[in-house]
Amino acid sequence: MFKIALNAGHGINTSGKRCLKSIDANETREWVLNSRICRKIEEKLSGYSGYSLIRLDDTSGNRDIPLKQRTDKANKFGADFYLSIHHNAGINGRSGGGVIAIVYKSIKDGSPTYEWQKALYNSVIDKTGLKGNRAVPLQKQNLHEVRESNMPAVILECGFMDSTTDTPIILSEDFADKVATACVEVLVKKGGLTYKSQTVKNDTPIKKSVEEVAREVIRGLYGNGNERKQRLSALGYSYSEVQSRVNEILRGKRV
Ligand SMILES: [Zn+2]
Repeated sequence: MFKIALNAGHGINTSGKRCLKSIDANETREWVLNSRICRKIEEKLSGYSGYSLIRLDDTSGNRDIPLKQRTDKANKFGADFYLSIHHNAGINGRSGGGVIAIVYKSIKDGSPTYEWQKALYNSVIDKTGLKGNRAVPLQKQNLHEVRESNMPAVILECGFMDSTTDTPIILSEDFADKVATACVEVLVKKGGLTYKSQTVKNDTPIKKSVEEVAREVIRGLYGNGNERKQRLSALGYSYSEVQSRVNEILRGKRV
């Protein structure tokens, strides 16, 4: 059983951690972007077996859990890998940026942590193309999350929230989806997860999102009542998760 500790950095109300107003009038909070990617990672992983996963952040976003509590939780869980999703700042409204993968500065040469770092970075760049212009995208830093976790740990900074180049991209659902797919591919490969092929009927290794399936349910693709429940379960989806999204959409909530 491969154990994954997944973290969406910060909380909704953490001061400063948001997109630059001149580029994003909504000043989208970093936690919202981080959590969207984490949620997609969880959804895509649910098509596989052979792992267990905990989230280290408050998944409602309300509380910014102190970093020590996050790493303590991962250590107590005995995670095999610690993945922390963040978005960056420091471009100050100019262009440029890109994805950065950070590990602890004092890990030994040949540590498997470097393989995780490289694999995640390459996978995310391959899927998103958000290479940017940073001189050193594979970084070693003395940051709490990567220092105090007892297992290989990587902080993925998924682009800059104050860059005219990155910000419009990182706000898109499509980008979040690609980052999640990139992470899941690495987790599946390095964690030895197996695809639940016996229950999933189509050929794509990555399952559809809850959102997509909910829309298909509304279009009538899965029938009604018990039939719907059985068909969704047989395909490996959580009926209750899909149904609650269907109800939300039908109640007219925004996507
Ligand atoms: Zn952050």
